Amino acid sequence: MPTIQIKNLYKSYINSDGEPTNALENINLEIKDGEFVCVVGPSGCGKSTLLEIVAGLLSHTSGEVLLDGVPVTGTSRDIGVVFQDPSLYPWRTIKKNIAFGMDIAKIPKQEQEERLTKYISLMNLVGFENKYPSQLSGGMRQRAGIARALVMNPKVILMDEPFSAVDHLTRCTLQDELIRLRQEEKKTVLFITHDLNEAVYLADRVILLTPRPGKIQQEYRIDLPYPRNRDDAFLTHTAATIMTDITTGSRKDDVEYYI
Ligand code: ADP
Repeated sequence: MPTIQIKNLYKSYINSDGEPTNALENINLEIKDGEFVCVVGPSGCGKSTLLEIVAGLLSHTSGEVLLDGVPVTGTSRDIGVVFQDPSLYPWRTIKKNIAFGMDIAKIPKQEQEERLTKYISLMNLVGFENKYPSQLSGGMRQRAGIARALVMNPKVILMDEPFSAVDHLTRCTLQDELIRLRQEEKKTVLFITHDLNEAVYLADRVILLTPRPGKIQQEYRIDLPYPRNRDDAFLTHTAATIMTDITTGSRKDDVEYYI
């Protein structure tokens, strides 16, 4: 059974003037255990809406979202979420920020320490445990946000443009760390990005949504083993193909979003 099943999913928002905005239309998507899927598409096509529905943070209008065959009705410990802004508590140290969810879940202190040691090391934060978020770079804060999701040991990780606020070099490092982590931890990942090169570099499969209302326009398989070469001809060719497909399916301002 696929880990995530999205069936005939529709989402409409009701605007302040009472008019509906159709954000997602008839989304059907299955994600296998351990698969890494990237969702790309023009700004406003419903990428974040999709992620928030899968995370159980937002209700849908019709259709179904299942995690291991069970309908998603709210947030769950099986699903970890990482946003663009890690929103760390400024008054808590990095270690205490990462431990936050475990405190709430009342995980015994010794187990907390074991998990903290593992994920602080895995996310290259050793030596920074007792610093405060303001003392860390943007990339390190994002690493702490990822560690905070991972210590809960979720089956699935949902990431919404997690690296778009950091500089290019840091982004490349974080991408490589995510690939390594995903191979070690065998997580199922749903990752949203508007960076096509990032999508093809990271994913087993890239899903392109149409401009709003978001429907699945196209799917691209990236059957290349990891670690990958960023300049690999297949990757650059696939990114260019996606760009062409966006150009044919979008308005000019949507295309400018990717350049
Ligand atoms: P993306 O992540 O692809 O940029 P979003 O999922 O944020 O797109 O938004 C999809 C569409 O739904 C957009 O047109 C957006 O304006 C609209 N939308 C998002 N949130 C709301 C809301 N709370 N109320 C009304 N419309 C919304």
